[in-house]
Amino acid sequence: MATETSIACLTAHAAAELLRRGEISSVELTQAVLERIAELEPKIHAYLLVTAEDALEQARRADEKLAQARRSGERASPLQGVPMTIKDVISTQGVTTTAGSRVLENFVPVYDAAVIEKLKAAGAHLIGKTNLDEFAMGSSTENSGYGVTRNPWDLERVPGGSSGGSAAAMAADEGIFALGTDTGGSVRQPASLTSTVGLRPSYGRVSRWGVIAFASSLDQVGPMTKDVRDAALILNIIAGHDARDATTVDVPVPNYLDALETRDWRLKGMRVGVPREYFVEGMAREVEAALRAAIAHLEALGAEIHAVSLPHTEYALPTYYILAPAEASANLARYDGVKYGPRADVPGDVWDVMRATRGRGFGAEVKRRIMLGTYALSAGYYDAYYVKAQKVRTLIKRDFDAAFDKVDVLVSAASPVPPFRIGERVDDPLQMYLADVFTLAQPLAGIPAICIPAGFSAGLPVGMQIMARAFEEEKMLRVAYAYEQTTEWHKRKPQLA
Ligand code: GLN
Repeated sequence: MATETSIACLTAHAAAELLRRGEISSVELTQAVLERIAELEPKIHAYLLVTAEDALEQARRADEKLAQARRSGERASPLQGVPMTIKDVISTQGVTTTAGSRVLENFVPVYDAAVIEKLKAAGAHLIGKTNLDEFAMGSSTENSGYGVTRNPWDLERVPGGSSGGSAAAMAADEGIFALGTDTGGSVRQPASLTSTVGLRPSYGRVSRWGVIAFASSLDQVGPMTKDVRDAALILNIIAGHDARDATTVDVPVPNYLDALETRDWRLKGMRVGVPREYFVEGMAREVEAALRAAIAHLEALGAEIHAVSLPHTEYALPTYYILAPAEASANLARYDGVKYGPRADVPGDVWDVMRATRGRGFGAEVKRRIMLGTYALSAGYYDAYYVKAQKVRTLIKRDFDAAFDKVDVLVSAASPVPPFRIGERVDDPLQMYLADVFTLAQPLAGIPAICIPAGFSAGLPVGMQIMARAFEEEKMLRVAYAYEQTTEWHKRKPQLA
């Protein structure tokens, strides 16, 4: 039985170091993670698919490369021999990729997403694909076509979403590091609900090539990890311009680990803004208390705390829920049973087949979004909804521009509430949408944000979100790292015996 001392508990940077030194082997590490998965999956269901055999084969090859590097005195690739846990909305060559949808039940991509290519080139190997809300639409992973994922901190509660599988896998040490995607909070909100780290990069920082699209102007891939150092390490590898994704920006990628090269946690001169609009009615008292304490901690580290205002914050939610469904309605038009996935075998013409395929293949939330989006884009309503929402999006972005003229980073909660109970919100879409109030504005503005462990409320995780100006991930990483290294929250692990 895997125990708390299993090497599955390792972070990617620690594991890579032990692998390089030959103190553990990749086969041992991969085996330890597989054991942990075998032990805990009946309870948690973080994974949709575990590629055990192939992972062990890759691990054997990695061990050869590691031995070779040691013999020749070269430094092995940064993630050589480290298994990776990937949200099932990211294409993996030869490995079923479902986007959590029955409409893609049997879809096997013929190529790797750009981020997977990069991680493999850095020496990592796939260990499995994780559960998510169908097409990444949701905040609890309950909208998956393949069952719910449970929060390792309380099995009756949700792990957040849509990257709930990756987050749960990190919290339960059923993996070493993971990727998620974040359109409106899907990396950060599950990190908050599982006491793990989730980083949403600036829009255009990371290639979306090979990532199944939800809302293309908002989607970004982000690291989901056990600590801040791993978030920086993984971002280093996946960031950068990609000619196959025209929205990636061709600006130099700094070494994000440099932002962490300090033993001095003082945040002297760091200007931290606290947006007053992020303390809303409906926010749990304990979440607010944890956040206030975290802000006081940053101040004690030497940061200057400034009250700031982002006046258009209240419009982020309605704006997002017009634009994201509008883009989704276009992106999801391709799932018709002709090009991908299972086809409904019904009598009639091609339209009947497509209607039946989509009717059976898509879940309720996806259908709701397609209808909302189609409506917002229809001739008579386009100006009233879609165009108006685009204008408000600009105002939201300007709020952040103005704030970042005065401060280096902004901090807030990432989720207004600790993990909620499975079933509690699933039949009430508006309640579910409110789970994202704090994580929708940043994607609309294209800015990066990270969520890190910042406390507990009755044993349930509370996270802190740190935001920065676009392409200034280093600043938020520095603040996140200083906070992490001077607090103990990230060391707590759920009791899963
Ligand atoms: N929960 C939000 C939604 O349902 C965000 C999802 C995401 O970031 N992929 O759209």
